[in-house]
Amino acid sequence: MSGQERSFRSKLAQLIGQKGLIRGTLLSRKRMCGKPSCRCTRGHPHESLYLVVSESGRTRQLYVPRAWEAAVRQWVRDYQQAKELMEEISRLHWDKIRNRRE
Ligand SMILES: [Zn+2]
Repeated sequence: MSGQERSFRSKLAQLIGQKGLIRGTLLSRKRMCGKPSCRCTRGHPHESLYLVVSESGRTRQLYVPRAWEAAVRQWVRDYQQAKELMEEISRLHWDKIRNRRE
């Protein structure tokens, strides 16, 4: 195994082994709550965070409570990074097959 592959695998193992992972995109959406006296009627809309995920061609959305925001942002980043590492490892194996070298 090359040093490069070892490095990808070790980073991937850290990502998978420690924290959460989630696939999706975060979307911040502004909205009005409907209370006539609220500040949102005067140009300061409420902002809510959603996680948007597509599954077999369908898009699903999940409201992310404020208290969960930091953790969910981290999970999304870690998922993307794990996916990139998987792609790198996959490319190395593509080359192994092509070059007939284990
Ligand atoms: Zn409001």
